[in-house]
Amino acid sequence: MNYQEIIEEILAEVKPLQGKGKQADYIPALAKVNPDQSGICIHTLDGDEFAAGDATVRFSIQSISKVFTLAMCLGLEGDAIWQRMGKEPSGTAFNSLIQLEIEKGKPRNPFINAGAIVMCDILISSMKARNKDYLQNYLAFIHDVSGCNTINYNTDIADSERSCGYLNAAIANMLKYYGNIVNEIEEVLRFYFLTCSIEMSCCELAKAFIPFADHNKPFEFNGIALTASQVKRMNAIMQTCGFYDEAGEFSYLVGLPGKSGVGGGIAAIYPQRYSVAVWSPRLNEKGNSIVGLKTLELLTTRTKESIF
Ligand code: GLN
Repeated sequence: MNYQEIIEEILAEVKPLQGKGKQADYIPALAKVNPDQSGICIHTLDGDEFAAGDATVRFSIQSISKVFTLAMCLGLEGDAIWQRMGKEPSGTAFNSLIQLEIEKGKPRNPFINAGAIVMCDILISSMKARNKDYLQNYLAFIHDVSGCNTINYNTDIADSERSCGYLNAAIANMLKYYGNIVNEIEEVLRFYFLTCSIEMSCCELAKAFIPFADHNKPFEFNGIALTASQVKRMNAIMQTCGFYDEAGEFSYLVGLPGKSGVGGGIAAIYPQRYSVAVWSPRLNEKGNSIVGLKTLELLTTRTKESIF
């Protein structure tokens, strides 16, 4: 398969869409990113890399970090985490409060904000019990899984999100009210915003998702070990919950497990074959990158490669 030719063609084709939609301006720092950028990178299990456009420009990974958070939670605490959140698609916005109240503080799944905030609470407790620094270890895990140790939090973005993070604070407060947060709300929110603020490029993200595409290889990074079955189950959650209330549409149009973020990035995997990351900052009303979605739809359509 000539991935290089295919992705270059697709990127040129989707360019006119680049002006559509808008950046996530509820995080003021994200609204300042130059929106006229787009990139794609594919990593194959054989170690080949194919990149086009702004594939080496770092951007805020936002909710894509929820995949790394889940991997760490599963590795450290195993199935016990499912007592505190579900694994069903939410069918609601990533920051919805209504469902959380109806379901009495148990988030539908780990990939909506409420679920990720609970996971941050789990990681803080888990690391503290091991006398480890959770911020340092979270980053060390990402360094190991991506093979790149210059990846970092962007504290300006985290501060900017906190300054206007009223909805996430409301979610955290409701979780605490229902007894689903153990640590101090402010500490949990700070950690959550920092995980979202991490900056990576398409090429770094694609590389970091290879272990999720390759469940036959032992998964162990910075002491976090997952079984092949756990990795496959993580893919199942990406497939059903990775795009909030657009998960069905993504399955329908793209047909790969994946995860989006409001920084405009999407990472996805074709199990046993490749991982791919796309990025372009302007979003549709569901918070997913317009160019990113179209690029992946065309990729799996042109290559005739999807999990279905
Ligand atoms: N930090 C963002 C938030 O909490 C992440 C949301 C996203 O990427 N969908 O709202």
